[in-house]
Amino acid sequence: MKFLITGGLGFIGSALIRKIIKDTDHYVLNLDKQTYAANKFNLKSIELDEKYTFIKGDICDEILIEKLLFDFQPDYLMNLAAESHVDNSINNPSEFIKTNILGTFSLLKNCYQYWEKLSFKKKQIFKFHHISTDEVYGSQTSSKLFNENSRYDPSSPYAASKASSDHLVRAWFKTYNMPILISNCSNNYGPYQFPEKLIPLTILNAIQGRKIPIYGDGQQVRDWLHVEDHSSALIAIITKGKIGETYNIGANNQIKNIDVVKTICSVLDTLKIDKPTGCKSFRELITFVKDRPGHDFMYGIDPQKIYKDLNWSPKIKFEAGLKDTIIWYLNNKNRYL
Ligand code: NAD
Repeated sequence: MKFLITGGLGFIGSALIRKIIKDTDHYVLNLDKQTYAANKFNLKSIELDEKYTFIKGDICDEILIEKLLFDFQPDYLMNLAAESHVDNSINNPSEFIKTNILGTFSLLKNCYQYWEKLSFKKKQIFKFHHISTDEVYGSQTSSKLFNENSRYDPSSPYAASKASSDHLVRAWFKTYNMPILISNCSNNYGPYQFPEKLIPLTILNAIQGRKIPIYGDGQQVRDWLHVEDHSSALIAIITKGKIGETYNIGANNQIKNIDVVKTICSVLDTLKIDKPTGCKSFRELITFVKDRPGHDFMYGIDPQKIYKDLNWSPKIKFEAGLKDTIIWYLNNKNRYL
């Protein structure tokens, strides 16, 4: 199979490409604009593989997209290109509207023209998989977890842009019968994540003896999933998912932000690394800062559909995955500091 993957130099896209290239015989064309969040190092381990090709480009560039589709002739397109950091979407929403909404539209429009012209056999195979977030559902207000029928209620410009792109993708299925799949996943963690997000930011600040900022009182709850588990879920969806369906991906692993940060500090305390001068524990670096505007209190995914229909479930336990992630950042700190 030939995969056209967008955003493959980012955190999740690179984990997905490493997995496909290492574990299968499939070909991958990675289209990435190389924004600040991209890093070629993320794919160093596979970049010389003959099954892998990289193109620097923007998903909003319709001429490029049309050319890549007709030249490469993908069987699957997986869209992971996005502006992904909520704080940036509050301070500078324009790029989020461009990439997340207009970029998805550019892919849909050109994929439809490409798909229409495919042979009958190839037409049956082609799938457009849009990768999205649980943030489209807004904050969880009761004990009921989000399922695939939960109402969209996004809070941040990031979440609203992802919600908008999900609606566009669904419209291309309902209106044009284009074969699409959507997945909405909870918070990911693991190696190679750009250190603007909670877990790598905490680790890298801690080992430099810097303050560890936590929004508000840190009581916000997220459902944490290892990026390797997300990648295996994405492969299950693109290969076995039912056309037109949405799959929620989660780990049944809801944890408060403050507890994630305290756990990181406790793990660091047990490792043979220098503590900041005058500190007995890395926890002493924790600093509560003014809460993010519109900050959702809680996200929780009900993953029963993907568990049952696609026989997928996460394999990596949070404590073990988090410890491995911490050790990975310690071993690769020179990339970031
Ligand atoms: P990331 O920010 O680490 O990577 C995004 C990648 O997209 C970067 O390599 C960037 O260069 C590329 N990109 C940005 N704009 C582009 C454009 N216009 N054209 C081509 N490439 C472009 O993001 P991530 O954390 O890997 O997230 C990937 C996808 O998964 C996103 O759609 C995100 O919404 C979704 N998601 C992320 C999480 C999470 O916890 N990180 C959870 C659920 C869903």
